[in-house]
Amino acid sequence: MTRRRITHWIGGKPWDGVAERTGDVFDPATGEVAGRVDFASASEVDDAVAAAKRAFPAWRDASHARRGRVLFAFRELLNARASEVAEVITAEHGKVLSDAAGEVQRGLEVVEFACGVPALVKGGFTENASTRVDVYSIEQPLGVVGVISPFNFPAMVPLWFAPIAIACGNTVVLKPSEKDPSAANLLAELWAEAGLPDGVFNVVHGDKVAVDRVLEHPDVRAVSFVGSTPIARYVYETGTRHGKRVQALGGAKNHMVVLPDADLDLAADAAVSAGFGSAGERCMAISVVVAVDPVGDDLVERIRRRMPDVRVGDGRRAGCEMGPLVTGAHRDRVVSYLDAGVRAGASLVVDGREHPVDGDAGGFWLGPTLFDHVTPEMPVYTDEIFGPVLSVVRVSSYDEALRLVNANPYGNGTAIFTNDGGAARRYQNEVEVGMVGVNVPIPVPVAYYSFGGWKASLFGDAHAYGPDGVRFFTRTKAVTSRWLDPSHGGVNLGFPQNS
Ligand code: NAD
Repeated sequence: MTRRRITHWIGGKPWDGVAERTGDVFDPATGEVAGRVDFASASEVDDAVAAAKRAFPAWRDASHARRGRVLFAFRELLNARASEVAEVITAEHGKVLSDAAGEVQRGLEVVEFACGVPALVKGGFTENASTRVDVYSIEQPLGVVGVISPFNFPAMVPLWFAPIAIACGNTVVLKPSEKDPSAANLLAELWAEAGLPDGVFNVVHGDKVAVDRVLEHPDVRAVSFVGSTPIARYVYETGTRHGKRVQALGGAKNHMVVLPDADLDLAADAAVSAGFGSAGERCMAISVVVAVDPVGDDLVERIRRRMPDVRVGDGRRAGCEMGPLVTGAHRDRVVSYLDAGVRAGASLVVDGREHPVDGDAGGFWLGPTLFDHVTPEMPVYTDEIFGPVLSVVRVSSYDEALRLVNANPYGNGTAIFTNDGGAARRYQNEVEVGMVGVNVPIPVPVAYYSFGGWKASLFGDAHAYGPDGVRFFTRTKAVTSRWLDPSHGGVNLGFPQNS
């Protein structure tokens, strides 16, 4: 079979060099190597940054009207070709087509938000701050910005950042995950077709070598990163050490607290959907259900009963709800937690290895798994497994549930299931997590809010997209201005005071 070559996109066209290193790109539903992706060396990253730097002065000076027309055209193209983007995602990531279409839709919402950026970068103006002195602020782009994205949302995460960065007048170098690189190239083609000038959006593929060069490059002003916590911390520390503005979103362990008064069918539906959707490979997946006494037995039984109905299989086949894991190595790592959970004393209620699969035998399959009686020191609890493994921890009270969630080093998302508005309100106030759902298991904020966790789930101070995204990709200049009038005059060495 012919293997696709996937290469960089620099200065408005595919790179035509020869890569020193490449990586395999799998079709996770068959296990076959479907493509080979070029890995950028430092000099290829330098070429991309140089292209972005060259494009910056003209793009910075392009009017909002001009930039807006490109963004609207990109929005139309992405909308028209959303199913094509979804197919590319499914082919390399494995998530089912409907899930991939949902990812594109959430990315599209950020593009739509970015179309309104002019209204958010107006700055302020104060007439007569001092007598005949006006003060105003200007929001300006930073220059070349780097975006480094994870495998689990190959289109949505780049779309969290690039449209806003571009709308604000920056130019972009994207380094997507090497596991599913093709969606980024399709986005680059759509930007070009939308009329974005060459060099404003570039893609370099690769691994740590490319990331390190982006982090060290003197012409890269800011870096937006999404991935696992150890790499997020590394990217934050390295990028800031090199004088860059950095936002680095990390991993997660998201708890869903179920209070005794909750609707248990709703809670069980939510736990299965949010635990096993996208095979648990979502940073907002629910991986821990916290059952507050006395709901444990009943809730576990309701979750267990639903699990055989989850259709696991090739994401391109109609009716499949959960696809394979992204690589064989990742599947094996997730499977190792099944044994680790049993060894640590958790009850294996449903073993995902026994789940039927509607797909090729070579695919990276693992069905949904449920552990009960998990305790906080077990590896299935402490580690981000990033697979279809749901753990139930039983606690005796709301207070114990809250203590458990707040003691966890991660703080990305959480949900509370209850019919008690007072309890929900208390939880949203007391929980130390960046995104909270009340009877909503995956509370990904809409595009005009911002997305981000707390604690080890985010390094830096700006969340992704929404108002924080605009702030991240602009810097403020304050101007104090006085136009001469006939009464001016006189030297004054004192510190300027307002009169
Ligand atoms: P990852 O950290 O392995 O990789 C992310 C990016 O970093 C990729 O582009 C990769 O090439 C690069 N990278 C990997 N190792 C590196 C190294 N040693 N040095 C420099 N760069 C390196 O993450 P992943 O496996 O692609 O994605 C899954 C992780 O991302 C999970 O932990 C998940 O929770 C997290 N995630 C978080 C969010 C969020 O919003 N907080 C969203 C999506 C995914």
